[in-house]
Order: sequence, then C-alpha cells, then structure tokens
Amino acid sequence: MDELRRRYLRQQVELGGAEAVIDPSRLAPEAEPARPAVRAEAAPESRPAATAAPVAEGRLAPTTGPVAESRPPSAPDQAVRSGADVTETTQGGKAKDWRIGAPPIPGPGLVIPALESLLGAPEWSTLEEVAGAVAGCTRCFLAQGRTNVVPGEGNPKAELVLVGEGPGQTEDATGRPFVGRAGELLTGILAAIGYSRDQVFICNVVKCRPPQNRKPLPDEMTSCSPFLEAQLRILRPKVILALGATAAEALLQVKRSLTDLREKVHSYRGTPLVVTYHPAALLRNPNWKKPTWDDVRIARQLVDR
Ligand code: SF4
Repeated sequence: MDELRRRYLRQQVELGGAEAVIDPSRLAPEAEPARPAVRAEAAPESRPAATAAPVAEGRLAPTTGPVAESRPPSAPDQAVRSGADVTETTQGGKAKDWRIGAPPIPGPGLVIPALESLLGAPEWSTLEEVAGAVAGCTRCFLAQGRTNVVPGEGNPKAELVLVGEGPGQTEDATGRPFVGRAGELLTGILAAIGYSRDQVFICNVVKCRPPQNRKPLPDEMTSCSPFLEAQLRILRPKVILALGATAAEALLQVKRSLTDLREKVHSYRGTPLVVTYHPAALLRNPNWKKPTWDDVRIARQLVDR
C-alpha cells in the first residue's frame, strides 16, 4: 500500500468514516505479487516437481501431467515422438526399410558356366527326390558319424537360396539346417530384408555333419556336390547367397579369401551369386555384421531387379 492510500484511509477515519471498507480490487496493483506464491503452492499437487524441472532447464519437455498435456508440442517433442514410432515399428515386427543406406549393386565377379548337357547327371527332378537320395547316401566318410542327414529345407519356389558349409551339432540332431544360435541369427538377418525362413531355401554344401564341426574335406565336398548342384538346378532361384568361404569355394570352384570374393556379383550357371560371412562367424566377430548387412541387401536388390 502506498503512502497516498494510507493518507486517504487516515483522512476517512478522521472524518468519521470508521466503517471505511478497503476494496481489494482497488488495491489490486499492489496485491498482485502475491499470486505467484499461490501458483507455486498449487504446482506440486497438479504435476510432479520432476516434470517441471527439465522445462526450466531447457531439456526435454515434460511428457506427463496436466501442464504437459495442454502444452502444444515443440519441435524436439515431435522428434522424440517420431523416433519412438520408428522404434515401435522395428520392434513391433515390421522391419525397418532395408533399402535405406543400402550399397549399390557391385560389378561382376567369377563366372561358373551353365552345364552344356545333363548327360550323366543324376535323374532327380524334385527336391524330395534329392532328399531321398541324400537320406541313403554313403558316398563319403561323413555318413559314418551322422545322426541325421540335413538335405535342406524351404520354399520350392524360393527366389533366394542360402548355402552354408555343413550341419552342426543341433542340425545333426534335428535334421534341419541352421537351427542353432547361428540359425537364429540368420533368421533375424532374413527378417531384416523382408523374408521369413519359409520364403527362402536353406541348405549346405555337405549334407552330413563333419566331426567336431571341422571344415569338410575337398573329397567330401566333391562327393556331395551332385546333391547341391541338383537342388539349385531344380530350384532355379533368382539369387544365391553363399554363407562363408567354404560355400563360396564349393560353388565358385576357387580357393580365395572371403574379402576377395565379397562385393562382387558372381554368376553360378547363370544365377547371380553373392558371398557373405557365415552367421557362425558373426557370432564370433560382431564387427562382420555390418558388411554382412550390406551383402544381404545387395542380394535382396538382385532379387528385386
Ligand atoms: S556328406 Fe554328402 S556325400 Fe557324404 S555321406 Fe553325406 S550326403 Fe553323402
């Protein structure tokens, strides 16, 4: 209250105005400073103190409480929200678009020419016939140690065929390819480029497990090659993905490093063939996941071409 009003009130009393009423509205300008105190007291009830602090400090806007709900979204809010959407999309089963950042299709590599004649080749004309022949096969030493043969499985009309090295322990026990930890990783990689396992065909160079998971010997790979050759001839995929150096070596009939064979589009009897790391190698060295991701996206582009 300023001095002028004090004097006025004193005069009213002196003039007999003992009932002088102080109209709060007329004192409003001076009374106003009290309001923030009221607001400050109400704040803890309407929103947690923790939500108010980040706003004051210029960090992310609060996301809970009545104040946050009524505030129009700022640009950072929108970014956070759209980021959450992306996370929900990728974690909710829908794959993020694999095309984003995909490398261009590389140039040509080695060429394995088409067979001029099938004379002398086994007469299998279906995948079931090949699997039946594998089941009774004793052509090489690997027949002695197997629990089950693992001929391969998948879609007989697959656009993409994946070829690995040979069955491991879990595959030998189940008779199915790529069902261990490496198989789980492969399933995830396929999902990331938009394929479920039953849309592709997965098999190995040799159909029986080598002891202690060693690399198949050259004569074992040669003995088993008619089965793989027949499977690829029957399937006629748009693209072959060789998983690891052994598969690449068997299909391309060369002994070169994986580094040498990656980032090229080879031709296996007229079918584009891309070489990448074996999923088991990725479990040992996660640094190879990025180049593998590039390779499978190249293969996917070749399918779509
Ligand atoms: S690895 Fe192949 S060639 Fe050797 S026994 Fe098994 S199916 Fe026959």
